[in-house]
Amino acid sequence: MAFNIEKIRAQFPILTEQVYGKPLVYLDNAATTQKPQVVIDKIAEVYCHYNANVHRGVHHLSNVATTAMEDARKVVANFIGAPSVENIIFTRGATESLNLVAYTVGERFITENDEIIVSEMEHHSNLVPWQIVAQRKGAKVVKWAFNDAGELDLNQLEKLITPHTKIVAVTHVSNTLGTVNPVEQIAQIAHRNNVMVLIDGSQSIPHIKIDVQKMDCDFFVFSGHKIYGPTGIGALYGKTQLLEQLPPYQGGGEMIESVSFDKTTYNVLPYKFEAGTPNYVGIIVLAEALQFVQSIGIEQIATYEQELLNYATQRILSIDSVKPIGTAANKASVLSFVVNGAHPYDVGMILDKMGIAVRTGTHCTEPVMQHYGIPGTVRASFAFYNTKQEIDMLHDALVRAVKMFS
Ligand code: PMP
Repeated sequence: MAFNIEKIRAQFPILTEQVYGKPLVYLDNAATTQKPQVVIDKIAEVYCHYNANVHRGVHHLSNVATTAMEDARKVVANFIGAPSVENIIFTRGATESLNLVAYTVGERFITENDEIIVSEMEHHSNLVPWQIVAQRKGAKVVKWAFNDAGELDLNQLEKLITPHTKIVAVTHVSNTLGTVNPVEQIAQIAHRNNVMVLIDGSQSIPHIKIDVQKMDCDFFVFSGHKIYGPTGIGALYGKTQLLEQLPPYQGGGEMIESVSFDKTTYNVLPYKFEAGTPNYVGIIVLAEALQFVQSIGIEQIATYEQELLNYATQRILSIDSVKPIGTAANKASVLSFVVNGAHPYDVGMILDKMGIAVRTGTHCTEPVMQHYGIPGTVRASFAFYNTKQEIDMLHDALVRAVKMFS
């Protein structure tokens, strides 16, 4: 499919909605993305034609559903460059993937006085699970601070790593600052020191071509709803040799090989980590979303979105009294800012009344707010269905908002 913005927008039914009688300008894509018609239709297709519980049925429908789910696993593996389907574990989303890694890595590898390096720009879901592990194991979470532009310094990482360091947990793209972190170099430094690396891909997966083998991360997580797929489904990629060493996260059906009161053995990868009936509808529909993105081309998407971000940065920051939060040299699709003399929440409320959906607050990154000493930001985040006209509308609405506050 060629990159034709009108054709692309036409595939997202919600984009023609009105709010308060005004056209919807949806700039909250870092929180969740809108869904194309093919994704919406796929949900109905599964329920209308082959809904049946997977993996344990001899009957036709169960086999069709199982094949569709396992085909979807191939699509996910291929999308992120994983070597095999055994590396792909389906979860409820990035948060569950992160908790799974933190818990199981904690059980297997972390002992008293060990250190876990977590960047200062992490979403709470890539900080709190590590704090819980640290508390359980008597280990320590070490902060990898960013500079005022919102960039992480690799030399600083070298200094933070000690013989006690077990893992570095860092986001690929910051959901608040937009920073794209140098994940390949981070993995190189960590591995040179025998330290594992987890990359939170929640904000990179819709914007950047992902190749987990090139990145050489040990774990990579993402959520389906951030990449035009349904809610309640996400994935975890892990290296085989590590996943094999980790204990199960939850017990139940599917994750076992055999069960008795005397001895239970566990299933092979990836099923060892997929207890219970999986969200097979979500999994099948997620694959549809990824194929939709592939049909447009992630490189084309990235180029277009970069253009949008540059345009938005230049337009929005031309307004006096608007100050950017996050000015890294390498950014993707997120523009956070504060308005002098106005609480972000109030700015967001005014923009909302003009039909513009942005997010305000701490974006689940309170340490980022503490770094800058601010209560929150206004965040506009872009998807490839957004347009320069929409950015102009944001600009004009913001000019009006600023006038109200001055
Ligand atoms: N990490 C980052 C960087 C995020 O932006 C988000 C969602 N805002 C998450 C993790 C958590 O994702 P989810 O809520 O889908 O589990």
